[in-house]
Amino acid sequence: MTALAPVLKNRGGLWIGWPGITGEVDQQALDDASLKAGYRLHPVELDEEEVEAFYRTISNGAIWPLFHGLPTLANYSQDAWDIYERVNERFADVIYGRTKQTDYVWVQDYHLMLVGRYLRALDPGRRMGFFLHIPFPPLDIFLQIPWRAQILNALLDFDLIGFQTMRDRRNFLEAVRRVVPDVRTHGAGSVVSVEHLDREVRIGAFPISIDYQEFCQQAQDWPVGEGSRWLKHAFGGRCIILGIDRLDYTKGIPQRLEALRVALTRYPELRGGVTFIQIAVPSRTDVPEYRVLKEQIDRLVGDINGQFTEMDWTPIHYMYRSVSRDQLLTFYRAADIGLLTPLADGMNLVAKEYAAANVDENGVLILSDFAGAAAQLHRWAITVNPHNVLEVADAIYGAYKMAQGEKRYRMRRLRASIRRNDIFRWVDSFLEAAVARHLDDFPYHEDYVPPLE
Ligand code: UDP
Repeated sequence: MTALAPVLKNRGGLWIGWPGITGEVDQQALDDASLKAGYRLHPVELDEEEVEAFYRTISNGAIWPLFHGLPTLANYSQDAWDIYERVNERFADVIYGRTKQTDYVWVQDYHLMLVGRYLRALDPGRRMGFFLHIPFPPLDIFLQIPWRAQILNALLDFDLIGFQTMRDRRNFLEAVRRVVPDVRTHGAGSVVSVEHLDREVRIGAFPISIDYQEFCQQAQDWPVGEGSRWLKHAFGGRCIILGIDRLDYTKGIPQRLEALRVALTRYPELRGGVTFIQIAVPSRTDVPEYRVLKEQIDRLVGDINGQFTEMDWTPIHYMYRSVSRDQLLTFYRAADIGLLTPLADGMNLVAKEYAAANVDENGVLILSDFAGAAAQLHRWAITVNPHNVLEVADAIYGAYKMAQGEKRYRMRRLRASIRRNDIFRWVDSFLEAAVARHLDDFPYHEDYVPPLE
């Protein structure tokens, strides 16, 4: 949700959400956080049982894997679903109590797919939209979820439903046509309409993005420039390949490591010539699948380093932790190759951040076909099937050997595309479809929540 911060900042918006802790929320801490963020925050409190059922079991244990096309990892529990419904209803109640009828409600992501249903019941005339940050799966996969009709019908209670890509929207429309009786779709282009129960619901593709200017500018700051020169020197001037992901089974990290092994085996000139830096940010560490994945990655890194390390060279530098913003930018700026190969990903913002921060315009982006970002960037990135380790290995070698001129040409176009389609454009296009207004129609209120600086 960091993507939304620059949009809400100092514009007088209200963010309603679960603060991520159980028990009573410290109001003072929340007020401090509001002040720092530049927008008001209002908590929805959840108890431990609700977190377990709503957040862990249904959102992250069922919807997350299924929507990422990994149905064998999805576990279903009717009891937990009942609580998922209850929590969605509570969100609707809080929204209803905290907003005016004329306010536009924009609900974010897969945890809150039923909010429209409950809010519509409280306030039939309310204008509200929904954005799904993760992929919407193909029909045969979606149909497996026990609550498919509830989910689709509830989503159709919004006025506007946004997806990351046209592929996600197509999958959604196929599911609607199959599961919901008496719907009619019409229109073409990036926003189409569905008629449902005498209401018109608009369905669009709105690829999310980043604050391009901020990444571009911060990457040119002195500590980042110095840091990136130092990093290159520390790695002996070798070609730096970078992977940055939350440690999640959707990110394809083991397959990526296997691809590196194949690349080092097939192309001996890469030995001693490249350094692969993998940063894995700890995520959902209480979930058994994530612990198993971590062990698998630990083992693979050890195996590959054991196989190829020389006295003066180690192929993989593996960091299992989050990094500061400056460090992140330093890695982005220093990396010669960004290697981002998720098995499925709503967008993959890291790919866009890497390009935005590559201010020297000499990096190459290798990107999975299954990242939402590939729909926009496929012409200038090297796109790969992350399951095909041979193809990924060849892409690594291809990027390593790529002529300077081609690198620059591709990276310039990548960056121009991300610059044009930044986070503000994303909000603008959603608001345009939602309420025929633009971000500039919501001017800054510097006095509303005064910034700290
Ligand atoms: N990121 C972070 N801390 C880190 C490394 C990365 O906050 O230590 C950020 C990164 O800048 C990016 C986000 O995490 O904005 C990851 O977004 P992405 O869409 O790539 O994947 P997600 O984690 O949302 O699945």
